[in-house]
Amino acid sequence: MSLQQADLVVNFKDTKVAFEHKSNDELKRAGWLFRLMNNPKLVKLGSSLGLKALHWKLPFAKTAIKKTIFDQFCGGTSLSETQKTINVLYEHKTQTILDYGAEAKSSEHDFNKTMSETLSAIDFGATNISVPVVSAKITGMARFALLEKIQNGHELMDKEKKEWESALKRINVVCNHACDKKVGIFFDAEESWIQDAIDGVVNDMMEKYNKQSVIVYNTFQMYRHDRLEYLMSSHDVALEKGYMLGAKLVRGAYMEKERKRAEEKKYESPIQKDKISTDNDYNSALQYCIKNYETISSCNATHNEFSNYFQAELINELNIPNNHPHINFCQLYGMSDHITFNLSKGGFNAAKYVPYGAVSDVIPYLIRRANENSSVSGEMSRELKLVKQELKRRRI
Ligand SMILES: Cc1cc2nc3c(=O)[nH]c(=O)nc-3n(C[C@H](O)[C@H](O)[C@H](O)COP(=O)(O)OP(=O)(O)OC[C@H]3O[C@@H](n4cnc5c(N)ncnc54)[C@H](O)[C@@H]3O)c2cc1C
Repeated sequence: MSLQQADLVVNFKDTKVAFEHKSNDELKRAGWLFRLMNNPKLVKLGSSLGLKALHWKLPFAKTAIKKTIFDQFCGGTSLSETQKTINVLYEHKTQTILDYGAEAKSSEHDFNKTMSETLSAIDFGATNISVPVVSAKITGMARFALLEKIQNGHELMDKEKKEWESALKRINVVCNHACDKKVGIFFDAEESWIQDAIDGVVNDMMEKYNKQSVIVYNTFQMYRHDRLEYLMSSHDVALEKGYMLGAKLVRGAYMEKERKRAEEKKYESPIQKDKISTDNDYNSALQYCIKNYETISSCNATHNEFSNYFQAELINELNIPNNHPHINFCQLYGMSDHITFNLSKGGFNAAKYVPYGAVSDVIPYLIRRANENSSVSGEMSRELKLVKQELKRRRI
């Protein structure tokens, strides 16, 4: 499909719609932050100083981080604090996907804490009209090394068998609660060397809970050259076993780590040979999900303008209602507002992934966002360009 700008069903160039939810002061603050983040050296320095200051529990560190980068990319430090952000999004016809931001945990205590946080997020979603889904990571509830061992087919020791049983129980409790409360749950895709283990669990959960409607979603990373085929075979299995497939599509977040490990351990990299190949598979996956929208509920999770236009055009071409519950779009909170809010205005199901949690817990997430928004080539980041454009339009 070639996309002619003039005929598009949605226009991402409208910065007035993109930033309507921001006051002049908030927009200026966002501009200032993106200008700082545009400098890779500053990002590197800021990340290590910020981490050290938090580690040493310097009193100003938390406040400084909270008032700047945290407020740009996170909803709040708790669910109740996030309500304000959810309301602002809702006022602009945009849904919220709650994402408890703590990452890389390893003790049973932490796994149980993630489980209870996720259960609370589900309860919160059940009473909030604009929170249809919560997001979770299997590594938030099960130990990474254990998943790796399971994927490798190594025999588990008795202690590990018990540990795995507890992890499966936690994951089932969460999915069962989501099903009872009719709130969806997205499971993130992670590193390829634990993803088979994740797929196994999530497929079991889909089979159990996706019979009447889609509650559980797996995530498919199209930077992997085997995932388009895997998406289609997952759909075949779902049809065969009589449940619906939940599919969140992403390009994938761990490219460098994946390539490095494959090189070090001397196996064929699971990553596509170039960006075009990732893009082609991504857009083919979108097309596959939309064409099969009666048996697949999907979420197009990307900041790529073409992929968002492409899905909007497909919906239009196939005469599917823009807001069909099985067809969704999602961007991260604080990024690509020109995509999200213009889609929302066009009547599509657009949502923001809104991380929340204690400042010290979401630091790894914030560092990734800062790196993503810093420019390696010396060019201005897309976010900064858009904010500057809107500041100019508002004559400030
Ligand atoms: C709502 C949401 C949820 C997400 N959840 C997950 C998740 O569960 N798991 C996960 O892994 N990621 C997740 N991501 C991150 C996502 O995978 C991407 O890293 C990020 O969104 C950038 O890709 P893009 O499609 O937005 O934009 P683009 O800028 O179009 O694409 C950049 C991406 O293309 C790929 N790429 C870049 N260069 C090359 C190359 N040379 N060869 C091959 N591929 C290349 C990489 O995946 C890179 O991240 C999520 C993103 C969003 C918006």
